Amino acid sequence: AHAYAKQRDYAQFSSSLELTLQRNITLLGDLQEALRLNQLTMHYQPKIDLATNAVIGVEAVIRWRHPVYGDIAPDDFIPQAEQSTLILKVTEYVISRVMRQIADWQEQGLRIPIAINISSHDIMATGFVARLLAELERFDIDGEMIEVELTEGALVNDLAHTQLELLRLNQAKIMISVDDFGTGYSSLQYLHRLPIAGIKIDRSFIKNLPHDDGGRYIVDAAVALAKNMGIQTIAEGVETPSANAYLRKIGCDVVQGFYYTQALPADKFVAWYREFQPTKTH
Ligand code: C2E
Ligand code: MG
Ligand code: MG
Ligand code: MG
Repeated sequence: AHAYAKQRDYAQFSSSLELTLQRNITLLGDLQEALRLNQLTMHYQPKIDLATNAVIGVEAVIRWRHPVYGDIAPDDFIPQAEQSTLILKVTEYVISRVMRQIADWQEQGLRIPIAINISSHDIMATGFVARLLAELERFDIDGEMIEVELTEGALVNDLAHTQLELLRLNQAKIMISVDDFGTGYSSLQYLHRLPIAGIKIDRSFIKNLPHDDGGRYIVDAAVALAKNMGIQTIAEGVETPSANAYLRKIGCDVVQGFYYTQALPADKFVAWYREFQPTKTH
């Protein structure tokens, strides 16, 4: 009976694995379709300079409203897309949407730089930087209007190749920042080897500030490290006034999070921005 039970467990395990695989295959098929049908949109979350209280840019995050399953979070499809070359198509889509958005805003007299999330597969793929630069040219947009967010994992994959690609971005005045800082397995070597302009401290360290000692020690150290290196610190996931006040006190440069607003569709973001910025007009 025992052996049978084991066999049954195995059968269950294998069928749930198959189910997961099948679900992922369906998901990727649907994602491909969504790309073709323009069912993916970008939302924008502001980045606020703590010294001036000005919005210095936004981060673009992707949104997928599936016709049957409803909203699917990026954490539930980006990792799957990264298992195949489909991520390259997703990034291509993100870049073209973001370029159009920058151009639209510029026509309305709004100069709002946009940060995009780039996967390690994008950096590893040949021609990624060339294509990004070609898009800038095509839309007649300055490199300063684009920021690239990369995770630590993406940076240490192939340091020599990454170094070349990032230098080319840097030469085009595209700012490069390290996303989810503090959650990767990497050494910190890349920080001085690569043209990194800023670190985004992961929100797990930020959310319970200033009460959580563990988070506070790491945030204090990250801000000090960045200051010594002359690079920018961004805190993501700022949800409370006390976290915001603490970050201001220790000299963190930029903040982002639900305390200000969640990521919003472009038109809603502009309404929020006009409301938030009135002090800038006098
Ligand atoms: P990320 O780049 O670290 O993005 C930050 C995530 O934190 C976003 O979730 C954002 O909505 C969320 N967030 C912002 N403020 C707060 C806050 O105060 N509290 C909490 N709890 N969360 C906050 P989202 O949009 O679900 O994105 C999750 C991840 O998916 C992103 O992490 C990024 O790694 C990936 N991702 C999103 N859009 C894209 C994309 O266009 N391309 C690629 N390659 N990855 C993307
Ligand atoms: Mg990001
Ligand atoms: Mg992040
Ligand atoms: Mg993340």
